[in-house]
Amino acid sequence: MQGELKIEKAVQHKPKPDTANLSFGVYMTDHMFTMDYKKGEGWHDAKIVPYGPIPMDPAAKVFHYGQTIFEGMKAYVGEDGNIRLFRPEKNFERFNRSCRRMSIPEIDETFVLESLKELIKLDRSWVPSEPGTSLYIRPFAIATENHLGANPSLQYKMMIILSPVGAYYAEGLNPVRIHVETRDVRAVAGGVGEAKTAGNYAASMQAQENAYGAGYSQVLWLDGVHRQYVEEVGSMNVFFRIGDQIVTPSLSGSILNGITRDSAIHMLRDFGYDVEERPITIDELCGCAEDGTLLEAFGTGTAAVVSPIGEIGWNGKTFKIGSGETGEWTRRLYDELTALQRGDLEDRFGWTQIICSAQTTKG
Ligand SMILES: *Cc1c(COP(=O)(O)O)cnc(C)c1O
Repeated sequence: MQGELKIEKAVQHKPKPDTANLSFGVYMTDHMFTMDYKKGEGWHDAKIVPYGPIPMDPAAKVFHYGQTIFEGMKAYVGEDGNIRLFRPEKNFERFNRSCRRMSIPEIDETFVLESLKELIKLDRSWVPSEPGTSLYIRPFAIATENHLGANPSLQYKMMIILSPVGAYYAEGLNPVRIHVETRDVRAVAGGVGEAKTAGNYAASMQAQENAYGAGYSQVLWLDGVHRQYVEEVGSMNVFFRIGDQIVTPSLSGSILNGITRDSAIHMLRDFGYDVEERPITIDELCGCAEDGTLLEAFGTGTAAVVSPIGEIGWNGKTFKIGSGETGEWTRRLYDELTALQRGDLEDRFGWTQIICSAQTTKG
């Protein structure tokens, strides 16, 4: 299909950022992967080239109809100095599920994962190794045909860019306050909530801004039909500990099937905890907060891995979760999942893949 991967190395290398101040998604590495699609030809011209801007026609469909999808994954360096990927095959499986929903032609998952490994090897000196840091990986596809007709594009570009990112929790794992959104909805079953597509993010920004303005750091999304069932928190999946059980919303068709969510369910069950996937209403949760049985809550996603929630604001009322501190089960999940991702803990699930040894970014 796409033939051989061509590699054109950068002649000049960019200066590396200070790994103590990486922040998130600010710096890009020296190289990127690109591949083109044309109807009749399929995916072709797969190559790794120096990182840089791409020429785009203003009539390209992605600008007008949002035909685009993306993924987010990470590479980690652990104590043994190796660079590892965490369940990367799951990201490319989901990439293709998102492609199908958005009428974008599917990619060859194996070929693209192998190309990603080559890209990481080439830019290995960019992978930070300080605790909490990682290399964020952003694969995406865009509709590039120059035509203002609202039908599936006949041309696409698929790319992968890499960004060294800092520790998500600069001041440690602190619980955040979340605001239950009652006006906007993020997604409905049958819509595109299950696809990792740009429009879901654009649609959620207004509520996110309002939540920030009211002193909250994330939005808790309810379902679009009943405005009762809890769906996600920000762009993370969400878990609650009620008594001695952990509950998380079942995949209803409007929730993104998170890989961290799936990993958390497996790991919590492996710890011996009872985990149930089921519909959860906001009434139930706030009732449990009031009677003291809502002990812990957290979001899960690749960027933050695990994000503890300390308080829920809903209809002008505030509901405290547990003591308001990071819960014991939340912390255990965060510690063990991040250690496993970095290769500092034995990988009893077979989730990690060693790519190559890292090169220190210092000096
Ligand atoms: C990416 C994403 C998640 C988290 O998925 P992971 O695979 O765990 O990173 C959750 N919700 C939304 C809306 C997302 O886009």
